[in-house]
Amino acid sequence: MIAGILAVGTELLMGQTVNTNATFLSEQLNHMGISVYYHMTVGDNRERMKVLLNQLLNECDIVFTTGGLGPTQDDITKEVVAEALGLEMIYDERSMQRIRERFKLYNRKMTDSNVRQAYFPKGAIILDNDEGTAPACIVEVPSRDKIVYVLPGPPREMKHIFNRHMINDLLTRNQMKMHSAYLSVYDLGESSTEDRLLDLIDRQTDPTIATYAGEGKVLVRVTSFNKDETYAQKAVRDMVETIKERIGEFIVSESGEDINDVIVNRMRALNQTIAFAESCTGGKLADALIKVPGASNVVNRGYVTYSNEAKIEDLKVSEETLKRFGAVSHETCLEMVKGLKERTDADLCVSITGIAGPDGGTDEKPVGLVYIGISYNGQTYTLENRFRGNRSMIRQRAMNTTLKLIYD
Ligand code: ATP
Ligand code: MG
Repeated sequence: MIAGILAVGTELLMGQTVNTNATFLSEQLNHMGISVYYHMTVGDNRERMKVLLNQLLNECDIVFTTGGLGPTQDDITKEVVAEALGLEMIYDERSMQRIRERFKLYNRKMTDSNVRQAYFPKGAIILDNDEGTAPACIVEVPSRDKIVYVLPGPPREMKHIFNRHMINDLLTRNQMKMHSAYLSVYDLGESSTEDRLLDLIDRQTDPTIATYAGEGKVLVRVTSFNKDETYAQKAVRDMVETIKERIGEFIVSESGEDINDVIVNRMRALNQTIAFAESCTGGKLADALIKVPGASNVVNRGYVTYSNEAKIEDLKVSEETLKRFGAVSHETCLEMVKGLKERTDADLCVSITGIAGPDGGTDEKPVGLVYIGISYNGQTYTLENRFRGNRSMIRQRAMNTTLKLIYD
């Protein structure tokens, strides 16, 4: 399939706006195997727009227009498309309704000219615009086997419509299949993840690689488009293998699952249980697992032993240890996890104690110092960590690292 892009707007010709819409569309279309033969730009002028539109309709299977869907008199793209294709303009009540609601939502006064935005070339498929007032549309010309996508000018709205309404439509038309893998990366930040994949990201063509940062998690999406689904699957699988060679120890799922889901599902399958003794994370760890449906068979209990008294009473940590080594120490953390183990028959016991700040740090024991204790399979040990950031970041990072330890 061959495509052409017509960017509409005098500001583009004046050099006031860079035509990023054409760049975005070209890149996306290329990934889908649709060849872009023309980028054209025209001002808000009816005659000249019609000339270029007709030229593109002669040469291409698909034509994209961007811009000129607004309510003002110089926004004429839909009318010109209708004229070029010999179609009349038809009023759409549903779109009018949506435009009215949007104005109400933003407490803005609607003008008569906004009514123009509810007119479309006859037979057009209307694409709702959740990011602005101007709906976009697809106009098919079956007799000529042509199709025109009429898109708004503001890049954010254009991208929204593309991602929301057009990807599947274009893939189907081009008989292309899409295959994706979603790698959940933990305990490696977004910039470190990108650093290690930089050359792959830089020279990506097919499959494409994108990273998204979430809470403690980095999601790496690997996507391939191809006519042959098996080929797309293989391309994605090969790329996933390459990525795993680089950062495999940080990947906990290849289908985008969160680490807590993976832990609960795996422990459930193994019929194993877990218990927590938390100080600085204040119950976050237990909550992270209890959030997952099916946690009732896995989570045994959790103590929030924040004060020294609680550590002594609930976990049998000795006063002597607390006095000598402090609440944030290998020794206390170890006694916490041992005490927990004595109190429960959970297969995996986890303790955590640390200084989340902003106060309480010393040179010897700075803010961000966190001990994690694990008791599993007859082995008991503690690990020292130093996290950076403010109080909530330190607590979040302590939780992520502990979940990663549990996963491992
Ligand atoms: P509006 O309802 O905002 O009038 P519209 O569909 O009529 O939307 P235009 O008026 O053509 O679109 O452009 C709106 C904004 O989008 C302008 O700020 C313009 O700079 C920007 N824009 C338009 N076309 C492009 C383009 N091809 N690339 C990047 N930005 C664009
Ligand atoms: Mg406009």
